[in-house]
Amino acid sequence: MALYPWLEPIYQQLVSAFEQGHGHHALLFKTESGLGTPTLIRQFATRLLCHTPQDAVSCGTCKSCLLMQSGNHPDFHFIESIEGKDIGVDQIRDQNTKLQQFAQQGGNSAIYIASAERLTEAAANALLKILEEPHDNVYFLLEAPLNSPLLATIQSRCQSWLVQPPSFSIVYQWLQEQCPALTLDDIEIALRLCHQRPLVCKDFLETDRLSQRKRFLQNFWRFYKSHDIWLLLSEFGKEKEDILRQLDWISYFFSDALKAKMTVQSTWINPDLRNGILPFSQALSVQSLLKGYQIILQTQQVIREVNAINLELMLADALTKLALDVFATNDH
Ligand SMILES: [Zn+2]
Repeated sequence: MALYPWLEPIYQQLVSAFEQGHGHHALLFKTESGLGTPTLIRQFATRLLCHTPQDAVSCGTCKSCLLMQSGNHPDFHFIESIEGKDIGVDQIRDQNTKLQQFAQQGGNSAIYIASAERLTEAAANALLKILEEPHDNVYFLLEAPLNSPLLATIQSRCQSWLVQPPSFSIVYQWLQEQCPALTLDDIEIALRLCHQRPLVCKDFLETDRLSQRKRFLQNFWRFYKSHDIWLLLSEFGKEKEDILRQLDWISYFFSDALKAKMTVQSTWINPDLRNGILPFSQALSVQSLLKGYQIILQTQQVIREVNAINLELMLADALTKLALDVFATNDH
C-alpha cells in the first residue's frame, strides 16, 4: 500500500508522535475529500497492528500485516454510514461488545470510523462513553470533514490531525507522472479548478471534464450574448453534484473577469479562455460582474443547503436574474 507523496510528512509525524509517547487512543483526522486520507488512516492502522514494525512502516510480512492486506483482520474494524444513512447507535454498541473481548491477534485493535460527522446523537454519545474509558491497546481513528458539525465533546476527547491540500508544486508533479499525455497548461488549469485536491483533479482530467468545461463556458458566452436562458439551461447536468460543478465554472469565469476589470495581477483560473473573458470583462461594469458572481454563489448555497428543491427551476431563476439584472443593464 503506497502512500501518496503529500501524505508522507503527516504519516511520519503520526508515527513519531506515537514513538515518542505522545500517541493517543483516539485520533480525529479532519480533512477534505480528494486527498486520499482513507489510505493514510489504513496505513497507520496497519502500522499500529503490525507485530514487527520496521521503523515508520509496517513489516508487510507478519500475520497481522497479511490479514490487513487480505481485508480480514479480526482486530481492525471499519464503521461507516451504510447506504447514505447516518451511523446509528447500534453500530457503535456492536463495536463496543466486540471490544469487550480480547484482541484476537494478541496485539492492538483499531477502529476506523469514516464520516464521523454522520454519527447520530445517540451514536455519538455512545462513542463518547467509550472514549471516556479507554481500553488498553485499542485505538479509535475518526475521519470527518474540516468544518463538520461533529460533537465538541467528541472532538475534545480526540487528538486532532489536520490533513490539508498539498502545495501546488507537489500536486503538479504528481499529476504530471499520473497523466503524462496531458499538456502542462491543462494540468495547471485543472489544479486550480479542483482546488489542488489531487485525486479530484486526477479524476477530472481522466474523465475529460476539462473540455466539457470549455464547451459549457462557450455556451455560457452564447447565453450572455443572446440572453436566451434555454440555451444554457439545457447544458446543465441532472445531478446536484454536476450542477454545482458547472456553477463553479461560471463563478470562476466571473471572478477572472473581475480580476481583469480591476487589473488584479493574481493568477487567473481560466487563462485558456482569455479571449472570451477579456471582452466580457470590458463590456460589464464592476457592479454587474460582482452581482453576477453573487447570483451564482447564492444559487449554489441554496442548492447545497436545501434538500427538496426543483433544481431546474432554481437554475432558470438564476439565469433569468443574470440575463435581466446583469447582462441587459450593460447593453447599449
Ligand atoms: Zn507486520
